[in-house]
Amino acid sequence: MSGIVVLGSANMDLVVRQPRPAHPGETMSGSSFATGPGGKGLNQAVAAARAGAEVAFIGCVGPDDFGARLTRVLDEAGIDASAVRVVAEPIDRATTGIAAISVTDDGENSIVVVPGANGDDELTETDAAAIGRAQFLLVQLERPLPLVRRALETARESGVRTVLTPAPATTEAAALIPLADIVVPNEGEAAMLSGLADPDADASARALSGRASKGDGTGLAVVTLGERGAVVARGGEIVHRVGARRVDAVDTTGAGDTFVGALIAWLAGGAELEEALEAAAAAAAIAVTREGAAASMPSRDEIEAALG
Ligand code: ATP
Repeated sequence: MSGIVVLGSANMDLVVRQPRPAHPGETMSGSSFATGPGGKGLNQAVAAARAGAEVAFIGCVGPDDFGARLTRVLDEAGIDASAVRVVAEPIDRATTGIAAISVTDDGENSIVVVPGANGDDELTETDAAAIGRAQFLLVQLERPLPLVRRALETARESGVRTVLTPAPATTEAAALIPLADIVVPNEGEAAMLSGLADPDADASARALSGRASKGDGTGLAVVTLGERGAVVARGGEIVHRVGARRVDAVDTTGAGDTFVGALIAWLAGGAELEEALEAAAAAAAIAVTREGAAASMPSRDEIEAALG
């Protein structure tokens, strides 16, 4: 049995550094190129595994070198990747997902995502069985919404606790919130999904927690606020605030995914909510002091050392 099953995206990030945005039709020289594992699903799986949890990943890649490399990344992180499927057709899905990221010298990003195999919307019987045996199911919104919905429903039918990171947030995604026991948006996503006009983070957290877990009063919303930490509501009331740790941030990519992975790893290990939130904030604070997404995520030992 896996403590945590993550159903989500796996991408290869292709990062080009260039002096400025290219004009239409222009060919210009960039200063560097790097590839690295990414996708919110893979990132959360790696974060949870590094934080000490037993993790299985359900995802799709293409029959190509990027797919083989991402599967190796999962293996090397100690994640059960036996449910990673290689998609052979249709042709537009038979490629591993990629994010082509251009970073200009003034720090502006532009990103083109080609989902490829992440667009596959099948939940196999083996996937459903793996979800049914887990303690927690973690999902995000970089896979087709009907697939995410089926996964959440499968988990809830089996009494598996469900965790939704509603990113990227869309208006259709709001319908999934009742199927989540814990919803973990950032401030912007929370505001959009709250359905309120110009809410502050507390109002969004209260609104989302009231709708989570079918509005039964137990739903949790953890709204992350970047360097201001996070605010937590349960069943429509604010129950906790977490301060972010003061660090010199160099790259905040993947901070949210590190936070979620560590939070659920701690909860799966039996920690109380407050303790798990402190571990999540400590893990994310370490990650932002390092370059990269999955590459920046701390080990359980590092998180425990930061907690003191
Ligand atoms: P990303 O999209 O970059 O993964 P996000 O927008 O989903 O991030 P944030 O709210 O920016 O998520 O950050 C998640 C958590 O990471 C915060 O709640 C906080 O604990 C931690 N964090 C983020 N930025 C900083 C920072 N500059 N210093 C310390 N901790 C930070």
